[in-house]
Amino acid sequence: MGSELKKPEIKFTKLFINGEFVDAVSGRTFETIDPRTGDVITMVAEGDKEDVDLAVDAAREAFDHGKWPRLTGFERGKIMMKFADLIEQHVEEIATLDALEVGKLFLLNKLYDVPGSADMLRYFAGAADKIHGQTLKMSGAMHGYTLKEPIGVVGLIIPWNFPAAVFFFKVAPALAAGCTMVVKPSEQSSLSALYIAHLAKQAGIPDGVLNVVSGFGPTAGAAIASHMDINHVSFTGSTEVGRSIMEAAARSNLKPVSLELAGKSPLIIFDDADINKAGEVCVAASRVYVQEGIYDEFVEKAVASVKYWKIGDPFDPEVHQGPQADKKQFERILGCIEQGKKEGATILTGGKAWGEKGYYIEPTIFADVTEDMVIAKEEIFGPVMSLMKFKTIEEAIQKANNTKYGLAAGIVTKNLDIANRMSRSVRAGNIWINCYSALDRNLPFGGFKMSGFGKDLGIDSVEKYMQIKAVVTPLYDSPW
Ligand code: NAD
Repeated sequence: MGSELKKPEIKFTKLFINGEFVDAVSGRTFETIDPRTGDVITMVAEGDKEDVDLAVDAAREAFDHGKWPRLTGFERGKIMMKFADLIEQHVEEIATLDALEVGKLFLLNKLYDVPGSADMLRYFAGAADKIHGQTLKMSGAMHGYTLKEPIGVVGLIIPWNFPAAVFFFKVAPALAAGCTMVVKPSEQSSLSALYIAHLAKQAGIPDGVLNVVSGFGPTAGAAIASHMDINHVSFTGSTEVGRSIMEAAARSNLKPVSLELAGKSPLIIFDDADINKAGEVCVAASRVYVQEGIYDEFVEKAVASVKYWKIGDPFDPEVHQGPQADKKQFERILGCIEQGKKEGATILTGGKAWGEKGYYIEPTIFADVTEDMVIAKEEIFGPVMSLMKFKTIEEAIQKANNTKYGLAAGIVTKNLDIANRMSRSVRAGNIWINCYSALDRNLPFGGFKMSGFGKDLGIDSVEKYMQIKAVVTPLYDSPW
């Protein structure tokens, strides 16, 4: 590694407020780090409460007096389509920034995440002119109907794991609804959001509609959560921060919130499964339950597959796994692995850092994991899989649900009865049958229990950026 590392030019590092790139009011900046090396990529403007206030003022002006909420849905949709074209023309640059800042595989980003974001914009652009209320049958001689109106200025707080994609999970439906917004990307991954902001301007999204304030969670993020003039906060991130956002929303102006939080999603593999298929989908799962009849064979295949797993520079097209996003995550994951060892789980492969520098971790498989171990209960968010055995479908249901989270679950079986029973019994927002992590712009995504509430994706996600107004008028001389 070293000299051949890709180091692209970085063009946008300042806050994007009211259509302009500006320094933070404090003048402060922070380092963003290349997880391949631990070196500084560049300095990024560090927004704080004062900057959030300026961004909210711009968004409020654009909402109250600007044209965006007043355009027809069709006109908004046309501008969003242009924005999507520009994203598609700059796939390479956006994919590069996310690979550079958080170690996401460049090729996957370039082929799927970023073009998928352009299509997500198009999907919601198509929804913009199909949002409408209802005519209601009233009990008296009255005419009643509902209007769906954009909720106002929204705060969108984004994590680092899918920086560009989650940006559009929230921005695309909010734009379609006619809202104006302040986006706070994660401090680990500000660059793609700032880059995308300049494309929004080129596309013709009016100044003040889409503002991006880079900065830290407890300062810039918290200022959004407690702002008196923000009308909805949509957040993706950890459960702990989600709770603080809900508290801040309650203490300030009672703004509604939607939360996409942590998960500890199970993958349940039944005896009849095609074991090669199971091997493919288990890659992303952290809690893997395997029925006893195929457990030994599965373990053998899982360990063998890791031998072909290439770790390294996320820009290398041969690589399967890049570095962890930052030092904090890297240390946290290694801490979880140590905890697993201490609690008596057996390491079948991996279990330590990889390479001499950067934040790489070997893919790690634990066996002999029991339900009470921390590695079976807490989200690890790294390349660590815990294998557990089960006997009956009842036991599988009980174990799958034995978690405070409810983000998703995977089921691998050829038996339709098992698949149907499991999908109705597991308490999670997304069920993947014979696949895993299958997200789609058409399909609502979001958790149950402490994984949050309020869906991203799917046409209904526009609803959270709208509010319903009921209008009534007498039809003729009414008794009132
Ligand atoms: P995080 O909660 O630390 O940060 C997420 C965002 O919130 C960042 O922009 C951060 O700056 C901001 N933030 C931090 N403290 C804040 C505060 N006090 N007030 C307001 N904002 C604050 O999470 P992360 O480390 O960036 O992301 C990883 C977590 O996100 C994992 O727990 C993962 O499961 C979760 N996640 C969930 C989903 C989902 O759809 N459910 C998707 C992606 C990530």
